[in-house]
Amino acid sequence: MERMIHTVRVRGQAIDEQTRCQHYHSERDIIALRFACCDTYYPCHLCHDETADHPAVVWPQARAHEPAILCGACGWTMTLADYLAHDSTCPRCTSPFNPGCKSHLHLYFELPTS
Ligand SMILES: [Zn+2]
Ligand SMILES: [Zn+2]
Ligand SMILES: [Zn+2]
Repeated sequence: MERMIHTVRVRGQAIDEQTRCQHYHSERDIIALRFACCDTYYPCHLCHDETADHPAVVWPQARAHEPAILCGACGWTMTLADYLAHDSTCPRCTSPFNPGCKSHLHLYFELPTS
Protein backbone atom coordinates (compact mmCIF):
# COMPACT_ATOMS: atom_id res chain seq x y z
CA MET A 1 0.00 0.00 0.00
CA GLU A 2 0.88 3.65 -0.21
CA ARG A 3 -0.01 6.46 2.13
CA MET A 4 0.69 10.18 2.07
CA ILE A 5 2.18 11.37 5.35
CA HIS A 6 1.71 15.11 5.07
CA THR A 7 3.51 15.69 1.75
CA VAL A 8 5.62 12.53 1.68
CA ARG A 9 4.65 9.29 -0.06
CA VAL A 10 5.32 6.19 2.06
CA ARG A 11 5.03 2.61 0.78
CA GLY A 12 4.76 -0.61 2.80
CA GLN A 13 2.44 -2.94 4.67
CA ALA A 14 -0.50 -1.76 6.79
CA ILE A 15 0.84 1.76 7.30
CA ASP A 16 -1.10 3.90 9.77
CA GLU A 17 -1.37 7.69 9.72
CA GLN A 18 1.94 8.05 11.60
CA THR A 19 3.92 5.42 9.62
CA ARG A 20 3.57 2.53 12.02
CA CYS A 21 3.44 -0.69 9.99
CA GLN A 22 2.56 -4.33 10.17
CA HIS A 23 6.01 -5.10 11.63
CA TYR A 24 6.73 -2.18 13.98
CA HIS A 25 3.69 -0.65 15.57
CA SER A 26 4.46 0.48 19.10
CA GLU A 27 3.42 3.96 20.14
CA ARG A 28 6.91 5.25 19.28
CA ASP A 29 7.38 3.54 15.93
CA ILE A 30 6.68 6.68 13.95
CA ILE A 31 9.59 7.09 11.58
CA ALA A 32 9.97 6.02 7.98
CA LEU A 33 13.25 5.55 6.18
CA ARG A 34 14.22 6.50 2.64
CA PHE A 35 15.81 3.82 0.46
CA ALA A 36 18.33 4.82 -2.18
CA CYS A 37 17.31 2.11 -4.67
CA CYS A 38 13.87 3.59 -5.29
CA ASP A 39 14.15 6.98 -3.53
CA THR A 40 11.05 6.05 -1.54
CA TYR A 41 10.22 6.09 2.18
CA TYR A 42 9.20 2.85 3.90
CA PRO A 43 8.26 2.35 7.59
CA CYS A 44 10.86 -0.44 7.90
CA HIS A 45 13.19 -2.75 5.99
CA LEU A 46 10.64 -5.59 6.06
CA CYS A 47 8.11 -3.33 4.37
CA HIS A 48 10.66 -2.70 1.63
CA ASP A 49 11.41 -6.42 1.29
CA GLU A 50 7.74 -7.31 0.98
CA THR A 51 6.56 -4.37 -1.12
CA ALA A 52 9.39 -3.49 -3.50
CA ASP A 53 10.32 -5.65 -6.47
CA HIS A 54 14.08 -5.23 -5.98
CA PRO A 55 16.76 -5.63 -3.29
CA ALA A 56 17.13 -2.79 -0.79
CA VAL A 57 20.00 -0.33 -1.15
CA VAL A 58 20.84 1.54 2.05
CA TRP A 59 21.24 5.31 2.11
CA PRO A 60 24.82 6.08 1.06
CA GLN A 61 27.33 8.28 2.88
CA ALA A 62 27.65 10.32 -0.30
CA ARG A 63 24.05 11.50 0.18
CA ALA A 64 24.27 12.01 3.96
CA HIS A 65 23.37 15.71 3.54
CA GLU A 66 19.97 14.79 2.10
CA PRO A 67 17.01 13.98 4.38
CA ALA A 68 16.33 10.24 4.65
CA ILE A 69 14.25 9.93 7.84
CA LEU A 70 10.60 10.99 8.07
CA CYS A 71 8.77 11.84 11.29
CA GLY A 72 5.36 10.23 10.91
CA ALA A 73 3.83 12.58 13.46
CA CYS A 74 4.55 15.90 11.72
CA GLY A 75 5.89 14.97 8.29
CA TRP A 76 9.32 16.53 8.87
CA THR A 77 12.21 14.96 6.99
CA MET A 78 15.67 14.96 8.51
CA THR A 79 19.18 13.77 7.80
CA LEU A 80 20.77 10.96 9.77
CA ALA A 81 22.92 13.56 11.59
CA ASP A 82 19.78 15.52 12.62
CA TYR A 83 18.20 12.33 13.87
CA LEU A 84 21.26 11.30 15.87
CA ALA A 85 21.66 14.79 17.35
CA HIS A 86 18.19 14.75 18.91
CA ASP A 87 18.30 11.59 21.02
CA SER A 88 15.20 9.79 19.74
CA THR A 89 12.84 12.75 19.51
CA CYS A 90 11.68 14.70 16.48
CA PRO A 91 13.66 17.96 16.07
CA ARG A 92 10.49 19.70 14.94
CA CYS A 93 7.51 18.34 16.92
CA THR A 94 9.44 16.62 19.76
CA SER A 95 7.45 13.39 19.42
CA PRO A 96 9.39 10.54 21.01
CA PHE A 97 10.86 7.95 18.63
CA ASN A 98 11.61 4.35 19.48
CA PRO A 99 15.21 4.41 20.78
CA GLY A 100 15.57 0.76 19.67
CA CYS A 101 15.72 1.90 16.05
CA LYS A 102 19.28 3.03 16.60
CA SER A 103 20.46 -0.56 16.81
CA HIS A 104 19.10 -1.21 13.31
CA LEU A 105 20.68 1.73 11.54
CA HIS A 106 22.94 -0.49 9.43
CA LEU A 107 19.80 -1.81 7.71
CA TYR A 108 19.08 1.68 6.42
CA PHE A 109 22.36 3.58 6.25
CA GLU A 110 25.86 3.08 5.00
CA LEU A 111 27.71 3.76 8.24
CA PRO A 112 31.33 4.82 8.67
CA THR A 113 33.61 1.84 9.21
CA SER A 114 35.68 2.86 12.19
ZN1 LIG B 1 13.92 0.21 -3.05
ZN1 LIG C 1 7.17 -2.67 8.17
ZN1 LIG D 1 7.87 15.37 14.10
